Amino acid sequence: MFERKMLNREKRPRKWLIYSPSTGKVFCGPCLLFGGGTNFGKQDVGFNDWKNASIRLESHENSCEHKTCVLVLQRRSDSDGRIDHELVAQYQEELTYWREVLKRVVATVKSLASRGLSFRGHEEKLGSLHNGNYLMTLELIAEFDPFLSKHIAQYGGKGKGCTNYLSSTICDEFIELMANKVLTQIKDEIKISKYYSIIVDSTPDISHIDQLTLVIRYVKADGTPVERFLKFIANVGHKSQDMADAITKTFEILKESFSEIHDALIAIESNPAQKHSTVCEAKGIRLKLERLETAFMTVFWSFILVHMNKTNKKLQSVDIDICTVVQLYDSIIHLISTERGNFDKYEQQALELSLVKEYEKDTKRIRKRKLTADESAEDITSSLSGRETFRVTVYLGIIDQIVVELVKRRKAYNNFCNKFSFLCNLTKETGGFRPKVLQN
Ligand SMILES: [Zn+2]
Repeated sequence: MFERKMLNREKRPRKWLIYSPSTGKVFCGPCLLFGGGTNFGKQDVGFNDWKNASIRLESHENSCEHKTCVLVLQRRSDSDGRIDHELVAQYQEELTYWREVLKRVVATVKSLASRGLSFRGHEEKLGSLHNGNYLMTLELIAEFDPFLSKHIAQYGGKGKGCTNYLSSTICDEFIELMANKVLTQIKDEIKISKYYSIIVDSTPDISHIDQLTLVIRYVKADGTPVERFLKFIANVGHKSQDMADAITKTFEILKESFSEIHDALIAIESNPAQKHSTVCEAKGIRLKLERLETAFMTVFWSFILVHMNKTNKKLQSVDIDICTVVQLYDSIIHLISTERGNFDKYEQQALELSLVKEYEKDTKRIRKRKLTADESAEDITSSLSGRETFRVTVYLGIIDQIVVELVKRRKAYNNFCNKFSFLCNLTKETGGFRPKVLQN
């Protein structure tokens, strides 16, 4: 109701519509002020005919009176000649002032970072010789820039509690924002070039902490090869397995297929050239994708499937013996059963992935219905929160089902193993086939 659906399916908020909690009715703001025709604009009438709301809203919206009132309001809201004219001007002035300050800070951070220079010195005091490159550069600019020199004179060196936007906190924040921007740019380039190689090396830094350097090398669209440093990963260890783990972990962060699919669906939905049925389907998939439950399942199943796949590959290898099969089953059963207690871990990952941060049950309205005489009170899950319900019915349900199925298969192999495993042991222990032992 508070949104207008345009012909091209675009949604626009009806900013003029106001709800009055005391009367329980809606009013049209501009019409109320300047005396519009219908109920929306009459102070003691208002509108609460919810059944016909969409038709009536539309007709009011298109009425001549409403349009005139909106225009009058628009004309009067031009800031010149309004009573808060001075206030707005002051606000704008402050806005430009601080933006000018930040522009100089950004330029400083950018030039220092691009040359790999250090930022901070031993102290954070303006005018000191040991205040580092960041403050030194700002002071240098201030020497020739009257604006910044005035700013430093007025706000600088007043300590904590006085905003001057020159402190290390602001500096750190800008560095982080810029780093994220650079990383996104690199990611985009990698996505376009599709193939890349990684260079990894580790060495201890000045404080004897081992730092693994991660560099990526790829060819840009115009044919120039580039090497990009991504990050340091501290304390990984020297074993190849440790390094491999650290790298796969880092690259998982780079993987963003989930949000890519989401963006693609939105693009389809908002494309007016698409067929209506396609748009509906895209919307349906998007709504499903937006649920926290879906994100949870994505994370959880990717774990299960990766491990299942590894085990599967081993099980299908030609030279595997029956005892190893049973051991493999044991290990995967153990692995999956221990995941019972790791709900929080997956939930955390799902929350990072999902746009929606609540379980569906918590957001939905609970429908109450009358119980018939033979029905007992509500079932157990209805008193639980959305999170608990999901954990008990879905998460634990899946794990238990998988474990049951795996145990069933393991049992079959175990029977087989008990009967015939001595054959394998024979060849192992004696180093060859001994018909004499077999006869016994
Ligand atoms: Zn109106």
